[in-house]
Amino acid sequence: MSSFKHSRPKGTQDFAPPQSDRKHRVEELFRHLAGLYGFQEIVIPVFEHTEVFIKSTGVGSDIVTKQMYTFKDRAGRSLTLRPEGTPGVVRAALENRVRMPCRLFYLGPYFRYERPQKGRTREFNQLGIEALGEASPLVDAEIIGFGDSFFRELGIADCTIQLNSIGCRECRPLYRQNLVGFLTRHRDELCNDCHVRLERNPLRVFDCKNSACQNLLAQAPKPREHLCSECDRHFSEVREALNRQGLQYELNDRLARGLDYYNRTTFEYLSGRLGAQDSLGGGGRYDYLVEEFGGPETPATGLAIGLDRTMLAMPELEQNKRRRLAFVVWMSDAELEPARKLLDQLRAEGIPARMDFDAGRPKRQFKLADAAGASCCVIVGPDELTRGVYSLKDLLTGEQTEVPVNTIAIQVRALLRD
Ligand SMILES: [Zn+2]
Ligand SMILES: [Zn+2]
Repeated sequence: MSSFKHSRPKGTQDFAPPQSDRKHRVEELFRHLAGLYGFQEIVIPVFEHTEVFIKSTGVGSDIVTKQMYTFKDRAGRSLTLRPEGTPGVVRAALENRVRMPCRLFYLGPYFRYERPQKGRTREFNQLGIEALGEASPLVDAEIIGFGDSFFRELGIADCTIQLNSIGCRECRPLYRQNLVGFLTRHRDELCNDCHVRLERNPLRVFDCKNSACQNLLAQAPKPREHLCSECDRHFSEVREALNRQGLQYELNDRLARGLDYYNRTTFEYLSGRLGAQDSLGGGGRYDYLVEEFGGPETPATGLAIGLDRTMLAMPELEQNKRRRLAFVVWMSDAELEPARKLLDQLRAEGIPARMDFDAGRPKRQFKLADAAGASCCVIVGPDELTRGVYSLKDLLTGEQTEVPVNTIAIQVRALLRD
């Protein structure tokens, strides 16, 4: 145990270097990919009025009943730290009168009071995209493909896509009725939580982690067998589009997602590196949510990726990894100012560069360069200065060469690694 005075609250995490660099790289890839698909960023508050989530995520959902950080502010308003992205995005798109159809992306911290474990924290980071105003099944397939590209780009090779359709307003009532009939007949086999779910929101039994409930649900009526002709056609077209895109998927009849607003297509990405239960992310269609928030009838579909789990599933960093950083070393006081000028020059050329002003002794400066993970040292010495050169040391190979002053930026750039 450390003897420091403070530690972080249970279920939170810090991103210290080099993890913070890694996080940044994942976020940059996400921004880049979202841009390629025509999504624009929307930035929304970390907390909303509590009813925003109750009205969308769902009264009987685990998130609303057990996991929300809800509090009264000093004026007595009920506020909730956002447990997921979509409700706030829809609220903000309507409030800002964003022209539909629109494609929006978001990223940032989210909060759920969960039992903390590896890859599951109470403060977690999500990356999400939402396509508001697009009805085509081809959009569902495009968004599923977006996530697949994202994970593959990060080197997560064992990612599988789980796919389901949970129907619409027309066909879900019959399904619900059949499911309730089945669950009522097997009431004794359900856990206590599921008894409550059966009363309040029967579809939520699919969120139950209890193994007895899971086994029973394997025999339960399946949403896919109750689809109306429109939903059936939509789902076929999603699958055909995925086939054309060369994307493999598994049909999963129990994939309901823990949120009330989904209809038709739902999907998740699983990675073997996280164990059986956990997904890297997922999403689905939510054609009624905009309307329920007081907007016009607007079909919509989206995807959210768990950044923290994605980082766990990513391949480990190489050993001896060097940063994109040059370290300028000065030999004696006479070279301090020329070295500092070189620092300015490198930065002006777009090269991340540092030097140490405290140490004085070159040996210690080399140590600091190594500890900082720099890719190379540029050495400014009296003899070199008179000859119009710098010594350039590659910190990965240890190789040292002399480089003419006027080509230093090019040579340093060639050694930068990231
Ligand atoms: Zn339907
Ligand atoms: Zn249960």
